[in-house]
Amino acid sequence: RSRAVPMRGDGQGQPASKTGRLVIVSNRVADLSKGNLAGGLAVAVGEALKSSGGLWFGWSGARSAEAHSKGPNIQTFGNVSTATVDLTEKEFEDYYLGFSNRCLWPLFHYRLDLAELHTTGQATYFEVNKRFAAEVAPLIQTDDTIWVHDYHLIPFAAHLRQKQVTNRIGFFLHIPFPAPELFSALPHHRDFAKTFFAYDLVGFQTVRDRENFARYAEEYLNCRRLNDGRLRGFGRTLRIEAFPIGIDAESFAAEAEKNARAPELRALAREVESERLIVGVDRLDYSKGLPERVRAMGSLLEKWPNYIGKVQLLQIAPPTREGVQAYDEIRSELERITGEVNGRYGDFVWSPVRYVNRPVPRAMLAGLFRRSRVGLVTPLRDGMNLVAKEYVAAQDPADPGVLVLSQFAGAAEQMEEALMVNPHDPAETATAIRRALEMPLGERRARHKALWNQIVSESVGWWRERFLAVLHETNGQPATPGGP
Ligand code: ADP
Repeated sequence: RSRAVPMRGDGQGQPASKTGRLVIVSNRVADLSKGNLAGGLAVAVGEALKSSGGLWFGWSGARSAEAHSKGPNIQTFGNVSTATVDLTEKEFEDYYLGFSNRCLWPLFHYRLDLAELHTTGQATYFEVNKRFAAEVAPLIQTDDTIWVHDYHLIPFAAHLRQKQVTNRIGFFLHIPFPAPELFSALPHHRDFAKTFFAYDLVGFQTVRDRENFARYAEEYLNCRRLNDGRLRGFGRTLRIEAFPIGIDAESFAAEAEKNARAPELRALAREVESERLIVGVDRLDYSKGLPERVRAMGSLLEKWPNYIGKVQLLQIAPPTREGVQAYDEIRSELERITGEVNGRYGDFVWSPVRYVNRPVPRAMLAGLFRRSRVGLVTPLRDGMNLVAKEYVAAQDPADPGVLVLSQFAGAAEQMEEALMVNPHDPAETATAIRRALEMPLGERRARHKALWNQIVSESVGWWRERFLAVLHETNGQPATPGGP
Protein backbone atom coordinates (compact mmCIF):
# COMPACT_ATOMS: atom_id res chain seq x y z
CA ARG A 1 0.00 0.00 0.00
CA SER A 2 1.25 3.44 -0.90
CA ARG A 3 2.53 5.58 1.91
CA ALA A 4 3.58 8.33 -0.44
CA VAL A 5 3.27 11.80 0.95
CA PRO A 6 0.51 13.63 -0.92
CA MET A 7 1.31 16.43 -3.29
CA ARG A 8 1.87 20.00 -2.22
CA GLY A 9 -0.70 22.75 -2.83
CA ASP A 10 -1.01 24.07 -6.35
CA GLY A 11 -0.61 27.70 -5.43
CA GLN A 12 -4.26 28.70 -5.66
CA GLY A 13 -5.48 30.71 -2.68
CA GLN A 14 -2.82 31.08 0.00
CA PRO A 15 0.62 30.56 -1.51
CA ALA A 16 2.02 27.23 -0.38
CA SER A 17 5.36 28.83 0.48
CA LYS A 18 3.72 31.08 3.04
CA THR A 19 1.35 28.79 4.83
CA GLY A 20 1.97 25.36 3.39
CA ARG A 21 -0.68 22.70 3.09
CA LEU A 22 -3.75 22.32 5.20
CA VAL A 23 -4.22 19.06 7.08
CA ILE A 24 -7.76 18.41 8.27
CA VAL A 25 -8.37 15.81 10.94
CA SER A 26 -11.93 14.78 11.73
CA ASN A 27 -13.73 11.68 12.91
CA ARG A 28 -15.19 11.02 9.46
CA VAL A 29 -13.67 11.92 6.11
CA ALA A 30 -15.83 12.92 3.15
CA ASP A 31 -15.72 10.67 0.11
CA LEU A 32 -14.02 12.97 -2.39
CA SER A 33 -14.44 10.43 -5.19
CA LYS A 34 -18.14 11.36 -5.29
CA GLY A 35 -17.41 14.78 -6.79
CA ASN A 36 -20.00 16.91 -5.04
CA LEU A 37 -19.31 17.50 -1.39
CA ALA A 38 -22.28 16.71 0.83
CA GLY A 39 -22.63 17.40 4.52
CA GLY A 40 -21.79 20.45 6.59
CA LEU A 41 -18.17 19.81 7.49
CA ALA A 42 -17.31 18.51 4.04
CA VAL A 43 -18.51 21.66 2.35
CA ALA A 44 -16.97 23.85 5.01
CA VAL A 45 -13.46 22.50 4.83
CA GLY A 46 -13.47 21.06 1.32
CA GLU A 47 -13.04 24.51 -0.21
CA ALA A 48 -10.11 25.35 2.04
CA LEU A 49 -8.44 22.06 1.22
CA LYS A 50 -8.82 22.68 -2.49
CA SER A 51 -7.39 26.18 -2.30
CA SER A 52 -4.23 25.38 -0.33
CA GLY A 53 -3.88 21.74 -1.24
CA GLY A 54 -3.74 19.25 1.55
CA LEU A 55 -4.64 16.13 3.36
CA TRP A 56 -7.81 14.98 5.12
CA PHE A 57 -7.29 12.33 7.76
CA GLY A 58 -9.81 10.37 9.82
CA TRP A 59 -11.82 7.21 10.34
CA SER A 60 -12.92 5.38 7.19
CA GLY A 61 -16.30 4.50 8.70
CA ALA A 62 -15.35 0.80 8.49
CA ARG A 63 -14.67 -1.66 11.30
CA SER A 64 -12.10 -4.39 10.81
CA ALA A 65 -10.02 -6.79 12.85
CA GLU A 66 -6.86 -5.71 11.00
CA ALA A 67 -7.40 -2.01 11.72
CA HIS A 68 -4.06 -1.73 13.55
CA SER A 69 -1.83 -3.43 11.01
CA LYS A 70 -3.13 -1.92 7.77
CA GLY A 71 -1.86 1.65 7.84
CA PRO A 72 -3.84 4.49 6.32
CA ASN A 73 -5.58 4.09 3.00
CA ILE A 74 -4.39 7.05 0.93
CA GLN A 75 -6.28 8.35 -2.08
CA THR A 76 -5.35 11.41 -4.11
CA PHE A 77 -7.72 13.73 -5.95
CA GLY A 78 -5.78 16.54 -7.60
CA ASN A 79 -4.08 18.57 -4.90
CA VAL A 80 -6.07 16.94 -2.09
CA SER A 81 -5.50 13.52 -0.55
CA THR A 82 -7.51 11.57 1.96
CA ALA A 83 -5.97 9.17 4.45
CA THR A 84 -8.38 6.93 6.32
CA VAL A 85 -8.02 4.24 8.93
CA ASP A 86 -10.44 1.61 10.22
CA LEU A 87 -11.55 1.03 13.80
CA THR A 88 -11.70 -2.33 15.53
CA GLU A 89 -15.09 -3.44 16.91
CA LYS A 90 -13.93 -2.61 20.43
CA GLU A 91 -12.73 0.84 19.39
CA PHE A 92 -16.01 1.51 17.62
CA GLU A 93 -17.93 0.45 20.72
CA ASP A 94 -15.78 2.28 23.31
CA TYR A 95 -14.30 5.29 21.49
CA TYR A 96 -17.18 6.15 19.18
CA LEU A 97 -20.45 4.88 20.66
CA GLY A 98 -19.20 4.74 24.24
CA PHE A 99 -17.10 7.68 25.30
CA SER A 100 -17.83 10.09 22.42
CA ASN A 101 -21.56 9.53 22.06
CA ARG A 102 -22.69 8.19 25.44
CA CYS A 103 -20.51 10.42 27.57
CA LEU A 104 -19.09 13.52 25.88
CA TRP A 105 -22.10 14.32 23.67
CA PRO A 106 -24.66 14.42 26.52
CA LEU A 107 -22.21 16.01 28.96
CA PHE A 108 -21.32 18.82 26.54
CA HIS A 109 -25.05 19.31 25.83
CA TYR A 110 -25.70 19.84 29.55
CA ARG A 111 -27.30 16.40 30.01
CA LEU A 112 -25.48 15.10 33.04
CA ASP A 113 -28.50 12.83 33.59
CA LEU A 114 -27.78 10.99 30.33
CA ALA A 115 -23.98 11.04 30.40
CA GLU A 116 -22.42 7.65 31.12
CA LEU A 117 -19.54 9.09 33.07
CA HIS A 118 -18.17 5.80 34.30
CA THR A 119 -17.62 4.11 30.97
CA THR A 120 -14.44 2.22 30.36
CA GLY A 121 -14.49 4.11 27.07
CA GLN A 122 -12.27 6.97 28.19
CA ALA A 123 -9.12 4.85 28.05
CA THR A 124 -9.97 3.56 24.56
CA TYR A 125 -10.79 7.12 23.47
CA PHE A 126 -7.25 8.22 24.40
CA GLU A 127 -5.77 5.12 22.76
CA VAL A 128 -7.60 5.74 19.48
CA ASN A 129 -6.47 9.36 19.48
CA LYS A 130 -2.93 8.17 20.11
CA ARG A 131 -3.05 5.65 17.29
CA PHE A 132 -4.56 8.16 14.88
CA ALA A 133 -1.80 10.64 15.77
CA ALA A 134 0.84 7.98 15.17
CA GLU A 135 -0.70 7.10 11.79
CA VAL A 136 -0.81 10.68 10.56
CA ALA A 137 2.50 11.92 12.00
CA PRO A 138 4.68 10.50 9.16
CA LEU A 139 2.46 12.27 6.62
CA ILE A 140 2.95 15.73 8.16
CA GLN A 141 5.28 18.17 6.40
CA THR A 142 7.10 20.93 8.28
CA ASP A 143 5.06 23.84 6.95
CA ASP A 144 1.63 22.16 7.21
CA THR A 145 -1.13 23.80 9.20
CA ILE A 146 -3.22 21.23 11.05
CA TRP A 147 -6.91 21.74 11.84
CA VAL A 148 -8.60 19.17 14.09
CA HIS A 149 -12.39 18.97 14.37
CA ASP A 150 -14.75 18.10 17.15
CA TYR A 151 -15.22 16.23 20.37
CA HIS A 152 -14.04 12.82 19.18
CA LEU A 153 -10.52 14.14 18.82
CA ILE A 154 -9.83 16.54 21.68
CA PRO A 155 -6.55 14.88 22.82
CA PHE A 156 -5.31 14.45 19.26
CA ALA A 157 -2.80 17.32 19.34
CA ALA A 158 -1.38 16.24 22.69
CA HIS A 159 -0.50 12.88 21.13
CA LEU A 160 0.88 14.55 18.00
CA ARG A 161 3.10 16.79 20.12
CA GLN A 162 4.56 13.67 21.70
CA LYS A 163 5.58 12.68 18.19
CA GLN A 164 7.56 15.95 18.06
CA VAL A 165 5.13 17.65 15.71
CA THR A 166 5.71 21.38 16.21
CA ASN A 167 3.39 22.67 13.47
CA ARG A 168 0.56 25.06 14.16
CA ILE A 169 -2.42 23.02 15.29
CA GLY A 170 -5.92 24.43 15.66
CA PHE A 171 -9.03 22.77 17.08
CA PHE A 172 -12.67 23.61 16.50
CA LEU A 173 -15.38 22.33 18.82
CA HIS A 174 -18.63 21.98 16.86
CA ILE A 175 -20.74 21.30 19.96
CA PRO A 176 -21.22 23.46 23.07
CA PHE A 177 -18.69 23.61 25.87
CA PRO A 178 -20.72 23.18 29.06
CA ALA A 179 -20.74 25.19 32.25
CA PRO A 180 -17.60 24.31 34.28
CA GLU A 181 -19.66 22.80 37.09
CA LEU A 182 -21.00 20.20 34.65
CA PHE A 183 -17.70 19.54 32.91
CA SER A 184 -16.02 18.93 36.26
CA ALA A 185 -18.31 15.92 36.79
CA LEU A 186 -16.27 14.02 34.20
CA PRO A 187 -13.88 11.61 35.92
CA HIS A 188 -10.26 12.74 35.28
CA HIS A 189 -11.58 15.98 33.81
CA ARG A 190 -8.30 17.79 34.48
CA ASP A 191 -6.21 15.26 32.55
CA PHE A 192 -8.75 15.44 29.77
CA ALA A 193 -8.99 19.24 29.65
CA LYS A 194 -5.29 19.90 29.79
CA THR A 195 -4.92 18.27 26.39
CA PHE A 196 -6.61 21.37 24.91
CA PHE A 197 -3.36 23.19 25.71
CA ALA A 198 -1.47 21.21 23.09
CA TYR A 199 -3.25 23.34 20.46
CA ASP A 200 -2.28 26.84 19.39
CA LEU A 201 -5.88 27.88 18.88
CA VAL A 202 -9.15 26.45 20.16
CA GLY A 203 -12.31 27.71 18.45
CA PHE A 204 -15.82 27.57 19.89
CA GLN A 205 -19.20 28.24 18.30
CA THR A 206 -20.19 31.02 20.67
CA VAL A 207 -18.82 33.50 23.18
CA ARG A 208 -20.73 31.59 25.87
CA ASP A 209 -18.84 28.38 25.07
CA ARG A 210 -15.50 30.19 24.97
CA GLU A 211 -16.18 31.83 28.31
CA ASN A 212 -17.30 28.53 29.86
CA PHE A 213 -13.96 27.04 28.85
CA ALA A 214 -12.01 30.06 30.08
CA ARG A 215 -13.74 29.98 33.45
CA TYR A 216 -13.11 26.24 33.72
CA ALA A 217 -9.43 26.74 32.91
CA GLU A 218 -9.07 29.49 35.50
CA GLU A 219 -11.05 27.85 38.27
CA TYR A 220 -10.13 24.20 37.85
CA LEU A 221 -6.76 24.22 36.07
CA ASN A 222 -5.27 27.32 37.71
CA CYS A 223 -4.65 28.91 34.33
CA ARG A 224 -4.21 32.64 33.98
CA ARG A 225 -6.25 34.78 31.58
CA LEU A 226 -4.04 37.33 29.83
CA ASN A 227 -5.29 40.83 29.00
CA ASP A 228 -5.75 39.84 25.36
CA GLY A 229 -8.01 36.93 26.35
CA ARG A 230 -5.48 34.14 25.84
CA LEU A 231 -4.97 31.46 28.48
CA ARG A 232 -1.62 30.72 30.06
CA GLY A 233 -1.18 27.17 31.35
CA PHE A 234 0.96 24.03 31.15
CA GLY A 235 3.88 26.07 29.80
CA ARG A 236 1.93 27.30 26.80
CA THR A 237 -0.26 30.19 25.74
CA LEU A 238 -3.54 29.16 24.18
CA ARG A 239 -5.62 31.42 22.00
CA ILE A 240 -9.37 30.84 22.38
CA GLU A 241 -11.96 32.47 20.14
CA ALA A 242 -15.59 32.19 19.08
CA PHE A 243 -16.11 31.37 15.39
CA PRO A 244 -19.81 30.77 14.75
CA ILE A 245 -20.11 28.37 11.83
CA GLY A 246 -22.29 29.46 8.93
CA ILE A 247 -23.80 28.20 5.70
CA ASP A 248 -23.54 29.11 2.04
CA ALA A 249 -26.76 31.14 2.16
CA GLU A 250 -26.84 32.13 -1.51
CA SER A 251 -26.60 28.61 -2.82
CA PHE A 252 -29.17 27.34 -0.33
CA ALA A 253 -31.51 30.18 -1.36
CA ALA A 254 -31.13 29.22 -5.02
CA GLU A 255 -31.86 25.58 -4.18
CA ALA A 256 -34.98 26.64 -2.26
CA GLU A 257 -36.29 28.78 -5.07
CA LYS A 258 -35.77 25.99 -7.55
CA ASN A 259 -37.54 23.39 -5.42
CA ALA A 260 -40.40 25.31 -3.83
CA ARG A 261 -42.76 23.99 -6.51
CA ALA A 262 -41.31 20.47 -6.69
CA PRO A 263 -43.97 17.84 -7.53
CA GLU A 264 -43.19 16.02 -4.27
CA LEU A 265 -44.39 19.04 -2.31
CA ARG A 266 -47.62 19.46 -4.27
CA ALA A 267 -49.61 16.88 -2.36
CA LEU A 268 -48.61 18.58 0.86
CA ALA A 269 -49.69 21.95 -0.51
CA ARG A 270 -53.16 20.55 -1.27
CA GLU A 271 -53.59 19.58 2.34
CA VAL A 272 -52.11 22.48 4.29
CA GLU A 273 -51.88 26.05 3.11
CA SER A 274 -48.34 27.41 3.19
CA GLU A 275 -49.44 30.16 5.55
CA ARG A 276 -50.44 27.51 8.05
CA LEU A 277 -47.46 25.20 7.73
CA ILE A 278 -44.89 24.93 10.51
CA VAL A 279 -41.71 22.99 9.77
CA GLY A 280 -39.16 21.26 11.98
CA VAL A 281 -36.09 19.37 10.70
CA ASP A 282 -33.72 17.69 13.12
CA ARG A 283 -31.83 14.50 13.69
CA LEU A 284 -33.84 12.55 16.26
CA ASP A 285 -31.56 13.59 19.10
CA TYR A 286 -32.57 14.32 22.69
CA SER A 287 -30.76 17.67 22.43
CA LYS A 288 -33.28 18.90 19.85
CA GLY A 289 -36.26 19.35 22.19
CA LEU A 290 -38.67 17.36 20.02
CA PRO A 291 -41.18 16.19 22.67
CA GLU A 292 -41.26 19.75 24.05
CA ARG A 293 -41.98 21.03 20.54
CA VAL A 294 -44.93 18.69 20.06
CA ARG A 295 -46.22 19.68 23.51
CA ALA A 296 -46.06 23.30 22.37
CA MET A 297 -48.32 22.37 19.44
CA GLY A 298 -50.77 20.87 21.93
CA SER A 299 -50.60 24.02 23.99
CA LEU A 300 -51.23 26.18 20.89
CA LEU A 301 -54.39 24.25 20.01
CA GLU A 302 -55.64 24.21 23.57
CA LYS A 303 -55.29 27.97 23.97
CA TRP A 304 -56.35 28.98 20.46
CA PRO A 305 -58.79 26.32 19.19
CA ASN A 306 -59.42 28.38 16.06
CA TYR A 307 -56.24 26.76 14.72
CA ILE A 308 -57.71 23.24 15.01
CA GLY A 309 -58.02 21.78 11.54
CA LYS A 310 -55.91 24.59 10.07
CA VAL A 311 -52.26 24.48 11.13
CA GLN A 312 -49.82 21.62 10.94
CA LEU A 313 -46.35 20.91 12.23
CA LEU A 314 -44.41 18.85 9.69
CA GLN A 315 -41.59 17.37 11.72
CA ILE A 316 -38.83 15.59 9.85
CA ALA A 317 -36.66 13.65 12.26
CA PRO A 318 -34.49 10.87 10.83
CA PRO A 319 -33.09 8.32 13.31
CA THR A 320 -29.50 8.75 14.37
CA ARG A 321 -27.05 6.78 16.55
CA GLU A 322 -29.35 3.81 16.74
CA GLY A 323 -28.22 1.35 19.37
CA VAL A 324 -27.52 4.03 21.96
CA GLN A 325 -30.26 3.61 24.57
CA ALA A 326 -31.04 7.30 25.08
CA TYR A 327 -31.85 7.56 21.37
CA ASP A 328 -34.30 4.66 21.47
CA GLU A 329 -35.95 6.32 24.44
CA ILE A 330 -36.31 9.77 22.88
CA ARG A 331 -37.87 8.16 19.84
CA SER A 332 -40.51 6.33 21.90
CA GLU A 333 -41.22 9.47 23.87
CA LEU A 334 -41.65 11.57 20.73
CA GLU A 335 -43.91 8.97 19.17
CA ARG A 336 -46.03 8.73 22.33
CA ILE A 337 -46.50 12.50 22.63
CA THR A 338 -47.19 12.88 18.92
CA GLY A 339 -49.86 10.18 19.22
CA GLU A 340 -51.35 11.95 22.22
CA VAL A 341 -51.57 15.37 20.55
CA ASN A 342 -52.84 13.92 17.28
CA GLY A 343 -55.37 11.78 19.15
CA ARG A 344 -56.70 14.71 21.11
CA TYR A 345 -56.98 17.27 18.28
CA GLY A 346 -56.96 15.33 15.02
CA ASP A 347 -59.94 14.11 13.03
CA PHE A 348 -60.57 11.97 9.93
CA VAL A 349 -58.86 14.31 7.52
CA TRP A 350 -56.41 16.37 9.53
CA SER A 351 -53.79 15.89 12.23
CA PRO A 352 -51.80 18.64 13.90
CA VAL A 353 -48.45 16.88 13.75
CA ARG A 354 -47.08 14.98 10.82
CA TYR A 355 -43.93 13.11 11.73
CA VAL A 356 -41.51 11.73 9.16
CA ASN A 357 -38.84 9.44 10.55
CA ARG A 358 -36.37 9.44 7.67
CA PRO A 359 -33.89 11.68 5.89
CA VAL A 360 -35.15 13.91 3.10
CA PRO A 361 -32.99 15.09 0.15
CA ARG A 362 -31.46 18.46 0.78
CA ALA A 363 -33.08 20.08 -2.26
CA MET A 364 -36.48 18.98 -1.00
CA LEU A 365 -35.77 20.36 2.46
CA ALA A 366 -34.87 23.71 0.93
CA GLY A 367 -38.16 23.81 -0.99
CA LEU A 368 -40.10 22.74 2.07
CA PHE A 369 -38.53 25.49 4.19
CA ARG A 370 -39.54 28.05 1.60
CA ARG A 371 -43.15 26.90 1.67
CA SER A 372 -43.47 26.95 5.46
CA ARG A 373 -44.65 30.05 7.25
CA VAL A 374 -42.93 29.09 10.49
CA GLY A 375 -39.54 27.46 11.06
CA LEU A 376 -39.53 25.86 14.48
CA VAL A 377 -35.99 25.37 15.81
CA THR A 378 -36.22 24.65 19.50
CA PRO A 379 -33.25 22.60 20.73
CA LEU A 380 -32.71 22.33 24.48
CA ARG A 381 -29.03 22.88 23.69
CA ASP A 382 -27.19 23.08 20.37
CA GLY A 383 -23.66 24.03 19.35
CA MET A 384 -24.95 26.22 16.51
CA ASN A 385 -27.94 24.71 14.64
CA LEU A 386 -27.61 25.10 10.90
CA VAL A 387 -31.28 24.40 10.25
CA ALA A 388 -32.07 27.85 11.71
CA LYS A 389 -29.79 29.45 9.12
CA GLU A 390 -31.02 27.25 6.28
CA TYR A 391 -34.63 28.12 7.07
CA VAL A 392 -33.87 31.85 6.79
CA ALA A 393 -31.81 31.37 3.62
CA ALA A 394 -34.67 29.48 1.96
CA GLN A 395 -37.31 32.20 2.40
CA ASP A 396 -38.80 34.32 -0.35
CA PRO A 397 -37.71 37.85 0.68
CA ALA A 398 -40.99 39.27 -0.65
CA ASP A 399 -43.10 36.99 1.55
CA PRO A 400 -40.83 35.39 4.12
CA GLY A 401 -41.64 32.98 6.91
CA VAL A 402 -40.72 33.50 10.55
CA LEU A 403 -38.04 31.72 12.54
CA VAL A 404 -38.91 30.66 16.10
CA LEU A 405 -35.60 29.93 17.77
CA SER A 406 -34.49 28.47 21.08
CA GLN A 407 -32.42 30.75 23.25
CA PHE A 408 -30.20 27.69 23.85
CA ALA A 409 -29.11 27.24 20.22
CA GLY A 410 -25.69 28.69 19.46
CA ALA A 411 -27.37 30.50 16.56
CA ALA A 412 -29.30 32.63 19.07
CA GLU A 413 -26.14 34.68 19.71
CA GLN A 414 -26.22 35.91 16.10
CA MET A 415 -29.89 35.67 15.08
CA GLU A 416 -31.46 38.23 17.35
CA GLU A 417 -34.35 39.03 15.01
CA ALA A 418 -35.81 35.54 15.36
CA LEU A 419 -38.66 35.04 17.84
CA MET A 420 -36.66 33.75 20.78
CA VAL A 421 -38.16 31.14 23.10
CA ASN A 422 -37.34 29.03 26.11
CA PRO A 423 -38.02 25.55 24.68
CA HIS A 424 -38.70 24.13 28.14
CA ASP A 425 -41.87 26.22 28.31
CA PRO A 426 -44.49 24.90 25.83
CA ALA A 427 -46.83 27.80 26.57
CA GLU A 428 -44.15 30.33 25.67
CA THR A 429 -43.30 28.45 22.48
CA ALA A 430 -47.01 28.26 21.60
CA THR A 431 -47.34 32.03 22.01
CA ALA A 432 -44.36 32.57 19.71
CA ILE A 433 -45.81 30.19 17.09
CA ARG A 434 -49.04 32.16 17.16
CA ARG A 435 -47.18 35.42 16.83
CA ALA A 436 -45.27 34.00 13.86
CA LEU A 437 -48.48 32.77 12.20
CA GLU A 438 -50.13 36.16 12.61
CA MET A 439 -47.14 38.41 11.93
CA PRO A 440 -47.86 41.20 9.42
CA LEU A 441 -45.90 41.18 6.17
CA GLY A 442 -43.92 44.34 7.00
CA GLU A 443 -42.52 42.90 10.22
CA ARG A 444 -41.79 39.57 8.56
CA ARG A 445 -39.81 41.30 5.83
CA ALA A 446 -37.87 43.47 8.25
CA ARG A 447 -36.90 40.55 10.46
CA HIS A 448 -36.01 38.40 7.48
CA LYS A 449 -33.85 41.10 5.93
CA ALA A 450 -31.81 41.53 9.11
CA LEU A 451 -31.37 37.76 9.50
CA TRP A 452 -30.47 37.31 5.83
CA ASN A 453 -27.78 40.00 6.04
CA GLN A 454 -26.42 38.27 9.09
CA ILE A 455 -26.16 34.80 7.54
CA VAL A 456 -24.71 36.16 4.30
CA SER A 457 -21.97 38.12 6.03
CA GLU A 458 -21.07 35.38 8.52
CA SER A 459 -21.11 32.56 5.99
CA VAL A 460 -19.32 29.26 6.10
CA GLY A 461 -16.51 30.75 3.98
CA TRP A 462 -16.13 33.59 6.46
CA TRP A 463 -15.97 31.07 9.33
CA ARG A 464 -13.27 29.02 7.65
CA GLU A 465 -11.13 31.97 6.55
CA ARG A 466 -11.33 33.61 9.95
CA PHE A 467 -10.37 30.44 11.80
CA LEU A 468 -7.37 29.87 9.55
CA ALA A 469 -6.32 33.53 9.64
CA VAL A 470 -6.32 33.53 13.44
CA LEU A 471 -4.50 30.20 13.51
CA HIS A 472 -1.81 31.64 11.24
CA GLU A 473 -1.42 34.58 13.61
CA THR A 474 -0.46 32.29 16.50
CA ASN A 475 3.25 32.11 17.05
CA GLY A 476 5.40 29.04 17.25
CA GLN A 477 5.36 27.59 20.72
CA PRO A 478 7.27 25.01 22.66
CA ALA A 479 5.93 21.72 21.36
CA THR A 480 5.54 19.88 24.62
CA PRO A 481 2.62 20.63 26.86
CA GLY A 482 1.79 18.21 29.64
CA GLY A 483 0.77 15.35 27.40
CA PRO A 484 -2.14 13.03 28.12
P1 ADP B 1 -26.66 18.60 13.95
O1 ADP B 1 -25.28 18.89 13.44
O2 ADP B 1 -26.74 18.44 15.44
O3 ADP B 1 -27.36 17.49 13.26
P2 ADP B 1 -27.43 21.09 12.59
O4 ADP B 1 -28.78 21.74 12.55
O5 ADP B 1 -26.32 22.01 12.90
O6 ADP B 1 -27.55 19.91 13.65
O7 ADP B 1 -27.11 20.42 11.20
C1 ADP B 1 -27.96 19.46 10.65
C2 ADP B 1 -27.79 19.39 9.14
O8 ADP B 1 -28.38 18.19 8.67
C3 ADP B 1 -28.48 20.52 8.42
O9 ADP B 1 -27.71 20.91 7.31
C4 ADP B 1 -29.81 19.92 7.98
O10 ADP B 1 -30.34 20.46 6.81
C5 ADP B 1 -29.44 18.46 7.78
N1 ADP B 1 -30.59 17.61 8.12
C6 ADP B 1 -31.23 17.53 9.29
N2 ADP B 1 -32.27 16.68 9.23
C7 ADP B 1 -32.31 16.19 7.99
C8 ADP B 1 -33.15 15.28 7.27
N3 ADP B 1 -34.21 14.70 7.82
N4 ADP B 1 -32.85 15.03 6.01
C9 ADP B 1 -31.80 15.62 5.43
N5 ADP B 1 -30.98 16.49 6.03
C10 ADP B 1 -31.23 16.78 7.28
